[in-house]
Amino acid sequence: MEFNVSSLLKEHTGAARAYDIDDDVVIDGVLHHVTGSARFDRTPDGVLVRAQLRGTAHGECSRCLKPAAFAVDIAFEEQYIPTVDVHTGVHLAPPAGEDDAFRIDARHILDLQEATRQYWALALPIAPLCREDCPGLCPLCGDDLTPGHPCAGDQTDARWSKLADLRPG
Ligand SMILES: [Zn+2]
Ligand SMILES: [Zn+2]
Repeated sequence: MEFNVSSLLKEHTGAARAYDIDDDVVIDGVLHHVTGSARFDRTPDGVLVRAQLRGTAHGECSRCLKPAAFAVDIAFEEQYIPTVDVHTGVHLAPPAGEDDAFRIDARHILDLQEATRQYWALALPIAPLCREDCPGLCPLCGDDLTPGHPCAGDQTDARWSKLADLRPG
């Protein structure tokens, strides 16, 4: 996820690059494969990155607690500010109000890893599911709540028989 932007930095505002991304990123200590695209635009202050990335996260289903894989889609737009002037090598302070902007390092490498990691964390589902209609676990015996599960059947029968009693006639 590292791009050498020295040639882009030497160009004028409005110059752009487009990249296809097919790379591995370390997120939470685990290597994730990420694909997508990024566009880099030269701005007066640095490089504006617009990226759309997709990968697969692995976790635990919030209903049945089995390992689950789910797609993660992220899109972000971030300004990257050079650390050194590409022509003179002089160190640059970030412009006012850009103190927490991402930086391009002294070798003119723009690294998308940190932004990807941050947006990835925001995109993770709060309650991931192994599949949309995961029935979860039986609250009585802890087994999969598959159709026809015996405990569920008993509960259902009890509820229905009460309803049947209320029914007129
Ligand atoms: Zn599940
Ligand atoms: Zn059960």
